[in-house]
Amino acid sequence: MKIFFIASAFALVGSCSSTKYSTKLQNLKDGIQLVDSVLVTKYAETITPTDLQQHLLFFADDGLHGRATGEIGQKVAAQYIKNYYENESIESPLGNKNYYQNIPKSFLPESSNDSENVLAFIKGTEKPDEVLIISAHYDHLGMTQDGIFNGADDNGSGTSALMEIAQAFKTAESEGHLPKRSILFLHVTAEEIGKLGSEYYIKHPVFLLKNTVANLNIDMIGRIDKSHSNNKDYLYLIGSDRLSNELHYLSEKVNNTFYKINLDYRYNSENDSNHYYNRSDHYNFAQNDIPIIFYFNGEHEDYHKSTDTFDKIDFDLLAKRTKLIFATAWEVANLDHRIKVDYGIIN
Ligand SMILES: [Zn+2]
Repeated sequence: MKIFFIASAFALVGSCSSTKYSTKLQNLKDGIQLVDSVLVTKYAETITPTDLQQHLLFFADDGLHGRATGEIGQKVAAQYIKNYYENESIESPLGNKNYYQNIPKSFLPESSNDSENVLAFIKGTEKPDEVLIISAHYDHLGMTQDGIFNGADDNGSGTSALMEIAQAFKTAESEGHLPKRSILFLHVTAEEIGKLGSEYYIKHPVFLLKNTVANLNIDMIGRIDKSHSNNKDYLYLIGSDRLSNELHYLSEKVNNTFYKINLDYRYNSENDSNHYYNRSDHYNFAQNDIPIIFYFNGEHEDYHKSTDTFDKIDFDLLAKRTKLIFATAWEVANLDHRIKVDYGIIN
């Protein structure tokens, strides 16, 4: 009887402390409030399959020779992105119509020529020094004897999405709805050769890293993987809770409120053998304690093959996923406080 009593007392203590932690999490989750639901959906609707298609048709064209870092096709892609921002009157944070962050040859592998990240931004009203970075790499694998690697999904999809997200924020701005925080639209190069464009940005940040509130990184969001052939309305989210539970629950709330996409977290497991958390540009931000979300559709049979082509992109799906990312960015940029970093542990 005595032994039983002690054992149950321990059980009680154990369950009490774990209840406390889950209560804390629940409280955080319940406390998440969206800053806006009318304007965000209004401007999200400006993101259309047709616009995305137009950009992706350009990026995935054979004429861009697979956009290898430092090669002519990558530079033509950079020029297209720059021209787009100029035409949309979305400024560069570098000033003087200079949208390029040049990356010298010395920073890149010996076989590469110099290259460039392409940057555009919208200045926040209330907290202009705090910056949200939305990123997507626009380089790809180039050409081999197997043909041209068009990289329509990887990462023509993310590149096109980022441009449409920027345009949606610009439309809001032109109608008087500026974000509280600044937003940097960061098109990085040299991802396929070791995430070097984002590494260069981290080493030469345009805005102080300590003022960078979060990074939403988009890399492959236009396709469906094998696990979801019967349920294409999904997206893998990776890393959202690693540095900030608040970012994770905010992202969930945005999705549950507006888009109800099946967010799949299987690759967020620390034990995931694919290690996707380490494998795209967001990782360089996470390494600097900046909360991140990585948006990804998973690998498919055309991943890193010359068959990753334009015709295989699902543009309705790409548009819906892009809207989710826009809406999440809107909430992060307009929150009354900066997203809290808790390293995944609530105290
Ligand atoms: Zn990629």
